[in-house]
Formats: sequence, C-alpha cells, structure tokens
Amino acid sequence: TEELLRKSDKLSVVGQLAAGVAHEIRNPLTSIKGFVQLIRDTQGAKPEYFTIMLSELDRIESIINEFLVLAKPQAVNFQEKSIVTLLQNITALVETQAILNNIQIVLLASPDIPLIECEENQLKQVFINILKNSIEAMPEGGIIHLYVEHIALQDEVRVRVVDEGLGIPAERIPKLGEPFYTTKEKGTGLGLMISYKIINEHRGKMIVQSQLNVGTTVDVYLPTQK
Ligand code: ADP
Ligand code: MG
Repeated sequence: TEELLRKSDKLSVVGQLAAGVAHEIRNPLTSIKGFVQLIRDTQGAKPEYFTIMLSELDRIESIINEFLVLAKPQAVNFQEKSIVTLLQNITALVETQAILNNIQIVLLASPDIPLIECEENQLKQVFINILKNSIEAMPEGGIIHLYVEHIALQDEVRVRVVDEGLGIPAERIPKLGEPFYTTKEKGTGLGLMISYKIINEHRGKMIVQSQLNVGTTVDVYLPTQK
C-alpha cells in the first residue's frame, strides 16, 4: 500500500503539469511538423535528415497525446458496463497488431461477471496499454491470455493478463509506473503510469508479477460495488 500511495502522489503532480502544458505544446508541434514535411519535399533537401526529424517529432507527439489522456477532466462519466464486452472490443482493436507479430489473444471469462462502474474510455486505455506492452514483449510471438473472474468474497472483478514475453527483472518491478521509465527505444514510459492513475480512480488496484524469459502477469482488480 505504501508503494501504491507513493505512486499516486507522483501521478497527481504530473497530472497537473500535463493539464497546463500538453495543449500548449501540441499546436506549435503540428505546425513544425507541417513545415518540416514541406521542406523535405523541396529540391536539394537531404531526405535522411528529414526522416529523422519527422520520427523524433512523432515521438514528441505520442508523448503529448498520452499526456492529454491525463489532462482530460477526470471521472465525469462513470457508467455501469460489462468488462467482458469492453475486453472483447479492445481485443478486436489490437488484434491486427497482434497477428502481425504472430500473437494470438485468447479471452476467457467465467459466466455471470457482474457489471462494473467505470469510465469506459479510460478503462479501455488501460487494457490497450497492458496489451501493447505484452505484444511488444513477445518478439517471437505466442499467446496472450486474458482471464476474467468474479471474486465474490471481495466484491471484485479480476482481469488477469498473462503473456509469454521477455519478462521483467525483479528489481525493476518497483520502477513500473514511474513517469518516463522505459526500456524501449521508441517507448514513452507513460503507459503504465497512466494505467495506475486510471485504476486508482476506479478504486481498483493493479499488480504486476513477472519471471524473466517466462512472461508477465498483470492483475487488474475492479470493485463491483459503490
Ligand atoms: P513503454 O511501453 O512506453 O516503455 P510503459 O509504461 O507501458 O512504457 O512500460 C514501462 C516499461 O515496463 C517498459 O518499457 C518495459 O520495460 C516494462 N514492461 C511493461 N509491461 C511489460 C511486459 N508485459 N513485459 C515486459 N516488460 C514490460
Ligand atoms: Mg507501453
């Protein structure tokens, strides 16, 4: 719990920052990108420099876009939804990327999963982040399992995402969710931070377990009662 508290503290600071800054950065960025494209297409320009500039601009843009998720007004539209339907939709969404990477996503839900009170788009964002991470951790392909269970005694629904990826060294697990912590060349290190924040706002919890070269399991617990 101390770890969770520490994380959510850090989140609110970053969240406040994001609200002010992200919009201001996005407009000039779009304009720079447009002009870089324009110059690239003029005579005498070295295309390789422009490729680098544009890919770096894309990276800035994706960081800003992830920040904007944080900057959105919070927790306004909580509704009763089926987490199973939500996961089916998400699976369909990331399926193309999965197939390209030789990955199969299998969703297994036990019957009679209760509805949960949630901000649907935010929750979708969480599971997209988790699935994207699993896909990116499985360069050789494999299967990602999604298990949905009702833990009646605790009034909770648990979504368990199990991948067969590279895994995470034990000493790095506490770093997950820290802003900008990434091991990827094109990573932003914001996906899990945003996910922790959203799950906190749903009064849920997210727990990551992993074994190197075996895979990673992410458990998301969401309350079924107000
Ligand atoms: P990003 O994906 O942009 O790097 P995230 O916040 O989504 O940022 O993830 C942070 C880091 O956590 C990743 O760079 C990776 O090292 C590690 N990670 C997260 N999920 C997994 C996973 N399923 N398997 C292996 N490593 C993971
Ligand atoms: Mg990620």
